[in-house]
Amino acid sequence: MIVMKFGGTSVEDAKAIDRTTSIVKGRLARKPVVVVSAMAKVTDTLLKMAQAAGAGDREGALKLSRSLRERHYNTAGELLGTGVFTRFHSELEGEFDALDGLLRGIAAVGELTPRTADHVAAYGEMLSSRIVSEAFAARGMNASLMDSRDCIVTDATYTRAVPFFDDTNERLALRVQPLLDSGRVPIMGGFVGATRNGITTTIGRGGSDFSAAIVGAGLNAEAIEIWTDVDGMMTTDPNLCPDAHRIRVISFDEAAELAYFGAKVLHPATVLPAIQKNIPVYILNSRNPACEGTRITARAPHCKNIFKAIAAKKRITIVNVAAPRMLLAHGFLKAIFEAFDRHKVAVDVVSTSEVSVSLTVDSNEAIPALAADLAKLADVKYEGRKAIVCLVGENLRETPGVAARVFGALSDLKVRMISQGASEINLTFVVEEEEVPGVVRRLHSTFFAELDAEVFA
Ligand code: ADP
Ligand code: ASP
Ligand code: MG
Repeated sequence: MIVMKFGGTSVEDAKAIDRTTSIVKGRLARKPVVVVSAMAKVTDTLLKMAQAAGAGDREGALKLSRSLRERHYNTAGELLGTGVFTRFHSELEGEFDALDGLLRGIAAVGELTPRTADHVAAYGEMLSSRIVSEAFAARGMNASLMDSRDCIVTDATYTRAVPFFDDTNERLALRVQPLLDSGRVPIMGGFVGATRNGITTTIGRGGSDFSAAIVGAGLNAEAIEIWTDVDGMMTTDPNLCPDAHRIRVISFDEAAELAYFGAKVLHPATVLPAIQKNIPVYILNSRNPACEGTRITARAPHCKNIFKAIAAKKRITIVNVAAPRMLLAHGFLKAIFEAFDRHKVAVDVVSTSEVSVSLTVDSNEAIPALAADLAKLADVKYEGRKAIVCLVGENLRETPGVAARVFGALSDLKVRMISQGASEINLTFVVEEEEVPGVVRRLHSTFFAELDAEVFA
């Protein structure tokens, strides 16, 4: 079997769902399980309406809900014949009425908890998977809609819940495998799961890719296909740099680093389940299905270019902790990392000197409380609006003089927190957020002017 995941743009309207239907139809012999995202931008709108309701703006929230209601009705109407649509319309109506009831409740209380936010956010995938399932059935496929809350079991860390793989795999074997065995095409929403007690959770923004990998690993898929709106994983974000080229093949390790440091085309957790079961992951374009996309596998062939790609992650804050009195004292770093741990703030890049440490973090809300805590240990300063730039490639391990070429290309800029060697395959540094497009384009023209045709298209 294979898993086919379709992102927001691949189900954004009736035309996109039609294309998606044809793509799945072409792969029926491989027994696909289909995982879908919410229609493009719907999760953003749902979270916006939940926040409006939480701030007591009931009318604002209901207005946003009406716009989503109309968009879903129109899409379903365009896709389905009148008879089916009449029945399905009343099902959708029931869902939207329940959503509106929830928003009224949130507005009445005037508080939005992470648990309730997940409940609202889950509507996106629940609605899109229903529509896609109806469209598949109307086009002659033996579609079976699954509720991902019955399949993906997670802890209760609302908004970024962590899956319990054993429970999830058991559920997948029990509920999804029999459908495949009887020749059906299971469809489920990504991003959403539930606790062991059945409370709705979500697994983090962009998490439908991760859902697909969880399902693929649980059912021992032959392949996990991530269908999106670009031809594959590219040498950099094509929106930043129009000369970006498609990478034909890349290793799990390289793809994971790129995803972690900002290549949004893949959620960073996606590769973990795939690595464990050694399942190849493909990135493919639902608007250009003939293109062979990017293959992500355990071992990529040798590449003549030093780097495979450049990623950038914006909205980074540098936290600088300086403690002159800690000169030569041990335990300083431990105390600092314990503070980050207490506030559940993840650190991306670290650089140290004798008595000071700089760390980058991307969760801005937690920073004031963290800084207050750290101030008990040392002098703390923080600076926002920074970005991490990351160059990734397995050749970095054995090629000398790379740093000189990277920073030679950026010699007029103030580059901070340089780090190379931690994973052996990435070189990262921090610049001002607004410098990202220029930095990426310069590095791209330095390292991708000539391309190894076996690795890049
Ligand atoms: P989906 O909704 O299908 O999950 P996303 O918007 O999450 O799609 O991811 C696809 C987008 O990722 C692309 O449109 C592109 O702008 C962005 N992106 C960032 N870095 C890269 C990269 N290295 N290669 C390809 N796309 C990238
Ligand atoms: N719909 C969710 C989001 O926008 C998950 C996803 O699309 O991967 O974050
Ligand atoms: Mg995505």
